[in-house]
Amino acid sequence: MMDLRSGMPYHWIFNGLPVEYPQLDHDVKCSALVVGGGITGALCARALATAGVDVLVVEAGSIGTGSTSASTALLQYELDTPLHLLAEEVGEETAVRSYQLCAYAIDRILALATELGPCGAEPRVSLQYASRRGDVDLLRKENEMRMKHGFETELLDAPAVQRTFGFKKPAGLLSHKAAVIDPYRFTHLLFHDVVKNGGRVMDRTKVESFKQHGSGFQAETSEGHRIHAEHLVMATGYESQRYVDEPGIELHSTYALASQRMPMSEPWFRNALIWETATPYLYLRTTPDNRVLIGGLDEPFRNPKLRDKLLDRKAKKLERAFHKLFPDLPFAPEYQWCGTFGGTKDGLPYIGRDPKTGAWFVLGMGGNGITFSQVGADIVRDHVLGRKNPDAELFRFGRS
Ligand SMILES: Cc1cc2nc3c(=O)[nH]c(=O)nc-3n(C[C@H](O)[C@H](O)[C@H](O)COP(=O)(O)OP(=O)(O)OC[C@H]3O[C@@H](n4cnc5c(N)ncnc54)[C@H](O)[C@@H]3O)c2cc1C
Repeated sequence: MMDLRSGMPYHWIFNGLPVEYPQLDHDVKCSALVVGGGITGALCARALATAGVDVLVVEAGSIGTGSTSASTALLQYELDTPLHLLAEEVGEETAVRSYQLCAYAIDRILALATELGPCGAEPRVSLQYASRRGDVDLLRKENEMRMKHGFETELLDAPAVQRTFGFKKPAGLLSHKAAVIDPYRFTHLLFHDVVKNGGRVMDRTKVESFKQHGSGFQAETSEGHRIHAEHLVMATGYESQRYVDEPGIELHSTYALASQRMPMSEPWFRNALIWETATPYLYLRTTPDNRVLIGGLDEPFRNPKLRDKLLDRKAKKLERAFHKLFPDLPFAPEYQWCGTFGGTKDGLPYIGRDPKTGAWFVLGMGGNGITFSQVGADIVRDHVLGRKNPDAELFRFGRS
């Protein structure tokens, strides 16, 4: 298996291992097999189970301990590619629809979290500041494009950024829809609900191989047990690169740091998510227990040894970046970790049937991995139920 993260991911440390599921120890049949027990597999399996589908989930390790446990889980509808630039690349209609789907996904995730139980889910506002003077025009164009399509945003000039956030930046784009969540806890709650709705969840069960078999699929586990399924949904995260040949996917390394608890519950304006126009970008959020999570400083390689070697240095850099932004706040680092992170050339995810294997993949990429997982869960559910989903075309394999 791929080494997806190292160090001490805050959400995992905070929650421990809440539950262990049984390991598959016999041959089995199901209507839909979901491979992967991260947040994507959880959202897909829950969407299927609540629609009455006989779903089986298998996870090679423990639930949620892949990228999901490392995620800082800022939920934003903005993609890593600004709307006006995405429109140039994929057309205005596709770009706007992708943004709308992510905005809708935030509402859906917040509603689900309310239904399932406490998991640190809270709505937020979000500020993207201009990292340099030359990016002010980019934010101005972005604000115009967003407002044109009904997204609630406000362009702040330098004095307004200073007044509102207390730091000096040439401009900022304040967006009124965003959220945060504890992705690891949420994943566990989703799987609990999958079981409640008649689904089966197995961990420590690795799919070693799979093939199309008749009108469905046959998968074999590393213990030699066979699974027959009418539908196969691969929610295998960044490890999916082993199976698919999509050239548009790039993997790199990223770093994150969690502070000790702050003495105040709102260290800056409305606990906004903060990020910037530079690439790679720095980002910050607060947690419901008053910590600050700060991340970024991505490196364009995925070699885990090289990635881990840089962790101490990157953590110090993240700490310095925080002090530069907020010199008066008492930031003391507590947990640091790093992980593999994926992006695509056009900033959109890959959701759909992989032409090589015939399986369905849900690969939510980039800074919107989680919101795209929710979008993917809806598309997968409709596919399994034989319903046409008008948005499926946007994210299909082989689109570029
Ligand atoms: C440091 C960091 C910060 C991030 N911040 C954000 C953020 O702020 N906002 C955001 O939206 N996204 C963020 N992301 C991205 C987000 O975390 C991912 O998009 C998301 O967690 C992917 O979930 P997943 O379920 O697809 O993958 P994973 O959580 O990796 O789950 C895939 C699972 O599949 C299992 N698996 C793989 N192969 C097999 C097999 N053959 N058989 C059985 N099981 C298998 C693995 O063991 C794994 O548990 C961040 C990621 C990192 C690393």
